Amino acid sequence: MKAPHLSDEEIQTYALRLDEVSEEIHAHVQDCELCRHKVQAYQLVFTAIEKPVAPVFDFDLAAAVIQQLPPSEIVAYDSRFTSYSIGGGVLLGIGMLFFYFFNYPIYLFEGLSSITLSILLAATVSISLFLGYDLYAKYQKQLKVLNLS
Ligand SMILES: [Zn+2]
Repeated sequence: MKAPHLSDEEIQTYALRLDEVSEEIHAHVQDCELCRHKVQAYQLVFTAIEKPVAPVFDFDLAAAVIQQLPPSEIVAYDSRFTSYSIGGGVLLGIGMLFFYFFNYPIYLFEGLSSITLSILLAATVSISLFLGYDLYAKYQKQLKVLNLS
């Protein structure tokens, strides 16, 4: 009666450490073509893993590429300046709105009821705040990306 084929573990042990396998396993590999092929396949894989592929280029690729790149300019960026300019712009806009509102209120909202005016004002302020915050957050995110690279 023929013995069952070897397990993957036994075949790997045979392929890696031939001196550690028992006489039965050694005899099975000699007799069984299937297990012998598996051992050869494992030996090929282990050999390929041990020998990394040599670099294809025979010159220093990194140095050749870096020579062709334009010199980088490192720009120190102060994010406070951006915050202050955005905040200043928003305050200026609000100030101009209030100036116009208090000097010419009759012409600006003539014929509108107070509830309509309130809804209009609330919607305008909400949308402006949302868009302003969204713009600011997007800008900060882009600055972080630029600072990391
Ligand atoms: Zn076998």
